[in-house]
Amino acid sequence: MDSIRIFIVEDEPSIAQTVQFTLEAEGFATQHFSTGAGCLAALEAAAPSLILLDVGLADGNGFELFGRIRRLTEAPVIYLTARDAEIDRVVGLEMGADDYIVKPFSLRELVARVRAVLRRVDTGAAASAGTNEVFQLDTVRRRIHYHAQLLDLTLHEYRLLETLLSHPERVFTRSQLLQRGWDNPDHRLERTIDSHIKSLRSKLHDIKPDADPICTHRGVGYSLMPES
Ligand code: CA
Repeated sequence: MDSIRIFIVEDEPSIAQTVQFTLEAEGFATQHFSTGAGCLAALEAAAPSLILLDVGLADGNGFELFGRIRRLTEAPVIYLTARDAEIDRVVGLEMGADDYIVKPFSLRELVARVRAVLRRVDTGAAASAGTNEVFQLDTVRRRIHYHAQLLDLTLHEYRLLETLLSHPERVFTRSQLLQRGWDNPDHRLERTIDSHIKSLRSKLHDIKPDADPICTHRGVGYSLMPES
């Protein structure tokens, strides 16, 4: 099953192992790189949800690496820094990192920061989707308007549409949709995604019969296509 993937770029094996163990125990998938070069190479092929980036790496400084990471992904970055100096924080945040954690840190703090950044990124994406003129997403009241009409959605239909709206044109697999929309995702439920999508489509169709904004990608999943 797909889960949230976190890249850990850290050259100190003991820290890397503890962080990796902790995050996996929390249900995240992780991948560890002891060099910046290893992380950059992996980013060519994979898109993590978040990157934990050690500022002091053997093959370069994390702040420099950050710029190169940004050219490959928009994934949020949390710096792991051993230097508790104000200047590092300012430079780090000015360079666009989403947060920083000063070593030594507690594992509980680490998990809390990771979750907070992931939540913020999610909300940000949803907020920008909210300005879409075809759909208006109101995450506070859990409501979605389609062509200015309020959709009468079940909880799962709402969450499916909210997920698709968070990244228009991105293809979500059934497993990813399940992971984001269900409180107890179980891969046996994957097929039920199809029937929820079907009823969602029919509700959209009732409002605008000549449009079909949800795209089916056979054997893969679904995406949302902007209407022209
Ligand atoms: Ca280091």
